[in-house]
This record gives sequence, structure tokens and C-alpha cells, in this order.
Amino acid sequence: MATRYEFEFEPINKIISPSNFNTYYYEPEKLEQRLKSYLLARWNNQDIANKFSLENVAWHEDFKKLSEDLLYDNPLDYEILNKWCEIRYYGEIVAGHYLRRYPEPDTVNYRGLNLPEDPFGNVVGTNLLYSWKVERLDNSVVIEDYRENSDNFIFAFVNLVIPHLFFVFHATRNKVKNYLVEVYKCNNIARCNNVFFAINKRGTKPKYCSQKCRTYTNTTNARKIKRKQEKDKKSA
Ligand SMILES: [Zn+2]
Repeated sequence: MATRYEFEFEPINKIISPSNFNTYYYEPEKLEQRLKSYLLARWNNQDIANKFSLENVAWHEDFKKLSEDLLYDNPLDYEILNKWCEIRYYGEIVAGHYLRRYPEPDTVNYRGLNLPEDPFGNVVGTNLLYSWKVERLDNSVVIEDYRENSDNFIFAFVNLVIPHLFFVFHATRNKVKNYLVEVYKCNNIARCNNVFFAINKRGTKPKYCSQKCRTYTNTTNARKIKRKQEKDKKSA
């Protein structure tokens, strides 16, 4: 007997949206917190929500590395990117039909069988006997757990969320509509200098990460100019 979970993708899509990348770049724990809150709200008091964790999924350094590839206009490090979102996953996501199974019926040396190198393989100390399926068709997601083990849900869920998070890097490089992510450093060098993400700006290069940084820099510059003018007046 399989346990079947059906849910909408949109709430997850909101959590992993590029508009939250600023937050995740500096506070990766927020991704886990938001996903956990979602699971608790959706399946309250069940193991799948209580046990969910990204503790063993080392996604953040790679996320930062790829963001910095965009920042410095370097070629994307596809070795890193494909670890989290293979090119064929990217194709599936673009087509609106994403499907992962574990283990894959037709291949032996497939992701999930390759412990411990598999970045997803360590999520919950996966046993090779586990099997599950996660399938997203547009906004509908189905997870099936064939072993009646809540760890399978978590493993499947992580295999849904993390590839969709990294999908954005493929999509940006391939100029997919609505996924044009640009990365800059804030021009408020004195107070901020943070890396920040700009989404779908299409050619207008933002200089500041926030209105606060823009105002700060503009007022500081205005003061500097005023001071210089007063000095010039005195010495004239
Ligand atoms: Zn700033």
C-alpha cells in the first residue's frame, strides 16, 4: 500500500521564488523555516512536517557560488549546478512536468543509489530499500510513498524543492521569460556593499539593494557636495 500526498505547487513556488534570494543568500536557515512552516500548516502534527529538515542538504555554498558566477559574469559552474538540477530536470520544469522516482526502475547507477556522493542522498539517512515518487504537473504535485515511511515523503519533497530552486540559474542563463535573475553589489559602499538580486529588470542596472541604501548614499553625497561648495566659497 502506498501513501499518497496531493498538494499545490504554488505555495512552494512562492517560498523558492527569486524574489526571496536576497534573504536566502544571507540567511539560508530561512528557507528551511519557511518550508517547515508550510508543511506544518498543510499537514499539521504529522511526522512529515515535524521531521522535515535541510540540515544534511549542503545547498547553500553552491547557491552562493552560482550567484557569484552571475555577479561577476563568469560562466556558470555547471558541475555544481547539475549536482542540484540536472539539465534534463531543467527541461522537465520548463515543460511543466517534473518527475523523480527512487529508485529509478530503468537504471542502476542513478541519483539516489549513489550514496553518499548524492547531495540529496543524505537527507534522512536513506535506506536503499526506500522507494517513492514525486510528480509535478503544472500546479499539482503528487508524492507517493511505497513504504509507509515518513522519511520517504521528506526525501521526495527535497527532491522537488531543491532542483526547482536551482532551476533558476539554468533559466537565467537560457533567458527564460520571468526568470532573468541579475546579481549586483550595492553601491552604498560605506554602509552596505551587499550582494543583491534583481529580477526581470531587463537592462536597467539597479545600483542599490534597497530604498534605504539609495537615500543614504544620495543624502551623504548631497552633504558632501554642499560642504565642498561652502569650502570653495570661503576660499574664493
Ligand atoms: Zn545596500
